[in-house]
Amino acid sequence: MRQVYINGEFKKEDDAKVSVFDRGLLFSDSLYEVTSVINGKLIDFNNHMKRLDRSMTELKFKKLLNHKDILAFHRKLIELNNLEEGMIYLQVTRGVADRSFDMPKNEIQPTVLAFTQEKKIIESEGAKNGIKVMTLDDMRWKRCDIKTTQLLYASMAKTEATLKGFDDAWMIRQGYITEGSSSNAWIIKGKIIMTRHADNLILSGITREAIFKCAKDLGYEVVTKNISLQDAQSAHEAFITSATAFIMPVVKINSNQIGDGKPGKFTTALRSEYIKQAIATAI
Ligand code: PMP
Repeated sequence: MRQVYINGEFKKEDDAKVSVFDRGLLFSDSLYEVTSVINGKLIDFNNHMKRLDRSMTELKFKKLLNHKDILAFHRKLIELNNLEEGMIYLQVTRGVADRSFDMPKNEIQPTVLAFTQEKKIIESEGAKNGIKVMTLDDMRWKRCDIKTTQLLYASMAKTEATLKGFDDAWMIRQGYITEGSSSNAWIIKGKIIMTRHADNLILSGITREAIFKCAKDLGYEVVTKNISLQDAQSAHEAFITSATAFIMPVVKINSNQIGDGKPGKFTTALRSEYIKQAIATAI
């Protein structure tokens, strides 16, 4: 049984409890971060913390959390659960209050919880053979830049895609691909790597940011722009990025095969470079 973290304590997963009045439960008034773990070390932890601060500021949480404390309980969770490869899920809710649409005016204690989950990230099936994505209407709200736990549409989209035999969904708003259900979407045409610009309609991924650097280090050009379905389906390569997938090649979009149906060479090179840098800078 896992040991999880809740409000300053480590407990067996069955013993960790949250109030029925928690605003995270009642209103999805709640934020999260997922940090990957390789060789028992955290990948890009500081940037996840910066994004958490930004999300908390956007939702007007009264006080930011101390990053050193968060790092300490992340490390303790890795140790308690002997986690070598996988992720740590961190959730911060506004806290417990009488149910009201009006957010509490006074400062309340946030609920802070975290747990480990094992996952093979480096040697995954998707990384080896690529994944298939189907496109769906993006019906989410217009603050996708905040990493809230309001994930119902993303979950519905992923479920619909997997029921239809795909691995994931890419969402489309006003004719352009926004992102995957839990990842950023990328295509490559010729030598140009493209992804959507970061605005309120996508989450600015921590892995996405790291890829800009890796691409530059490899001498590749990255352009941020609107990508239509037609652009994507005629791409030479495509891939997704997220903390728990790193870079995953996309080999099919709807019924269209991408390239020769195998992970592309730029994607593969980027993945290797990303893994190298991520491991070298893990803490
Ligand atoms: N977009 C969405 C909607 C996501 O849920 C995620 C992963 N949480 C990402 C992008 C990728 O972000 P990151 O690279 O920080 O995991």
